Amino acid sequence: MTPTHPSTPHSEILIIGGGINGLLTAKQFIEAGHQVSILDQSQVGQESSWAGGGILLPLYPWRQDNAITQLVIRSLAIYPELSEDLRESTGIDPEWYACGLLISANPDIEKATNWCKNNNIEFETNCLNRFQDFNVQIENPLWLPQIAQARNPRLIRSLKNHLEKEGVSFFENQSIKELKIQNKKIEAVVTHQYTFRAEQFVLATGAWTDKFLDQFLADFNQHIKIKPMKGQMLLFDAEPDTLSHMILAGDRYLIPRRDGKILAGSTVEDMDFNKTPTEEAKQQLTQFALDLFPKLRQFNISHHWAGLRPGTKNGVPYVGLHPEINNLSINAGHFRNGLVMAPASAQLLADLVLNRKPCVNPEPYQIKP
Ligand SMILES: Cc1cc2nc3c(=O)[nH]c(=O)nc-3n(C[C@H](O)[C@H](O)[C@H](O)COP(=O)(O)OP(=O)(O)OC[C@H]3O[C@@H](n4cnc5c(N)ncnc54)[C@H](O)[C@@H]3O)c2cc1C
Repeated sequence: MTPTHPSTPHSEILIIGGGINGLLTAKQFIEAGHQVSILDQSQVGQESSWAGGGILLPLYPWRQDNAITQLVIRSLAIYPELSEDLRESTGIDPEWYACGLLISANPDIEKATNWCKNNNIEFETNCLNRFQDFNVQIENPLWLPQIAQARNPRLIRSLKNHLEKEGVSFFENQSIKELKIQNKKIEAVVTHQYTFRAEQFVLATGAWTDKFLDQFLADFNQHIKIKPMKGQMLLFDAEPDTLSHMILAGDRYLIPRRDGKILAGSTVEDMDFNKTPTEEAKQQLTQFALDLFPKLRQFNISHHWAGLRPGTKNGVPYVGLHPEINNLSINAGHFRNGLVMAPASAQLLADLVLNRKPCVNPEPYQIKP
């Protein structure tokens, strides 16, 4: 297919949505030798993937669906090299580093340690000495020394920069007006500015996926349920070496960045598409952080923000081919674990679209008719 008009960008694969999932999916297709464009309704990587904490482990993964573990474990093996390659290619360091994660209370310790053993995750239960600076109730504590983090905004910036170098075309601030569909195939995506043509279309629209499907594919059965779930975070302007590892207490956590700044997160709120930070959440998170780690009292809060997680019922994303539209696939709905599942999820999606052997069992993520 060749462009029919200068305002008709053409690529083999058009990815709609440029968060972590869209970007890593693009990387997969580029590495397989395909031409890729990414279209976003706003700026690439400014939504949930920017707002998240970057802990590269689900909170209490042993309590989550096994389908999450499958993607997490595969992704954990990919992250160190991915981060290093991006740093080398772009000079922007995604700041992957294994600072470790301390968990104060694990009533289900046996389940936790079995999960670690089964998945080759190093752990220590004898770790009371690590709680000296914390004010928290301790019950069967757990120290996971290999657990890493990535710094979301830098990871995204580095990925975008790398993909640009590799020839991916980015189209930002593109509001989609129409999907041209014929014989159960997307022929074109029309925005106010362009008509995009491609052989394959990938939806990586995070929390906006249902909205997109309702708006443009309402004639087809809706097989997907993704709900925006607001999450708020705070950033303390702490100095380097104030905190050396991540700590999880209940469902809240602190994450120290390499430059010393400390994140406190997060809320989980069902507020539709409202992502305005609230004073109430700020107070709750501040209280949590200062109670847990009194050393933080000497530092100011420099930022407070919110993002919209793509919420699914049990946190398992949809990764697969659309059952009715022949050239549409979906990689969305990663809820609280989108950063940690993204590398494997992107690989799986590309495997399915390119007819390769799937890297993990694809069944749990399929979009069922
Ligand atoms: C406070 C908070 C803390 C988190 N902490 C962690 C953590 O520690 N670890 C972890 O693994 N995960 C965490 N997450 C979850 C993780 O951030 C998300 O699961 C992940 O970022 C989802 O990525 P995505 O690419 O699917 O969506 P997004 O990053 O939201 O990207 C979707 C993109 O699609 C675009 N888009 C939407 N609709 C359209 C349309 N119609 N046309 C064109 N473009 C469109 C949007 O503009 C956006 O750029 C956290 C999330 C939040 C909010």
